[in-house]
Amino acid sequence: MWLEYIKPYTDTFFTDSYGSAVGVINPTAPFKVVIEAHADEISWFVNYITPEGLLYLKRNGGVDHQIAPSMRVLVHGKNGPVKAVFGWPAIHTRMANTDSKETQPKVENLFLDCGARNKKEVEALGIHIGAVATYEDGYEELAYDYLIGRAFDNRVGGFMIAEVARLLQQNKKKLPFGLYIVNAVQEEIGLRGAEMIARRIKPNIAIITDVTHDTTTPMINKIIQGDTSCGKGPSLTFGPAVHNKLLELVQSVAAKNKIPVQLHTVSRSTGTDTDAFAYANDGCPSVLISMPLRYMHTTVEMLHKSDVENTIKLMYETLLTLTPKTNLSYFQ
Ligand SMILES: [Zn+2]
Repeated sequence: MWLEYIKPYTDTFFTDSYGSAVGVINPTAPFKVVIEAHADEISWFVNYITPEGLLYLKRNGGVDHQIAPSMRVLVHGKNGPVKAVFGWPAIHTRMANTDSKETQPKVENLFLDCGARNKKEVEALGIHIGAVATYEDGYEELAYDYLIGRAFDNRVGGFMIAEVARLLQQNKKKLPFGLYIVNAVQEEIGLRGAEMIARRIKPNIAIITDVTHDTTTPMINKIIQGDTSCGKGPSLTFGPAVHNKLLELVQSVAAKNKIPVQLHTVSRSTGTDTDAFAYANDGCPSVLISMPLRYMHTTVEMLHKSDVENTIKLMYETLLTLTPKTNLSYFQ
């Protein structure tokens, strides 16, 4: 779907063996710049089918066990999606436990109920060990330009890089380099899609976009997590994989175009595809432009429209500033 969406704004495209998708502008240019987001979504794997027809699970990425009880899901089996729910004991029966302690949801005690009452009925629906289950919740708009949806981490990134491509075409901008618009798979389980595609493209510069935590909501420690808020612009990360001179360039582009930005730091990995691009080949100057987001890895991930607009603008203006001659050397 994403590839079809960006095709009109690019010269060519390719995909790789594991499903990462790339739209390319100026495919023959020797100097290569990547703008990247990740396409994959956290979910569950069916791991064990009980004789009573219930499904026990394994995590696929950092899916949150605490929010699972009473969620509706789709199990993607051989015969297409099958509806199921995360069953959970009623408050009455929980409170009646002799030790009167509330059971906490854990991967080991969460199960799906699809209506089947034995293993045969489960299998007749096309559900098998290894089938993936995703939450059903979708997109909604709230007051004051807030948007909610599941997997905004990182579908919003896929949207933003596509918008950059669209704007370049709409405004008839010619870039002095090849632009690779990358929507990579397998970020959530260890940046694997980005590792593969970075080696294939061998870019000279990579601009990564992902989500970061709005730390102004309750029960988050700003002393540990820093101070980032939805509605105050994209967040720029300082960290080992982030190239300081490229980051300075992005900051100057933001200042020149009056795009508000916030700052954030990591001590080692950024936890994003930035690290995969920075370290994949012989060192690719990389930078991370993140969307502040509330309630990450829940089904109500929330972001502010103005941050989406400002992140698109910052990536777009940064691309218009870069040339193959942009000096990113630390030694001159
Ligand atoms: Zn994530």
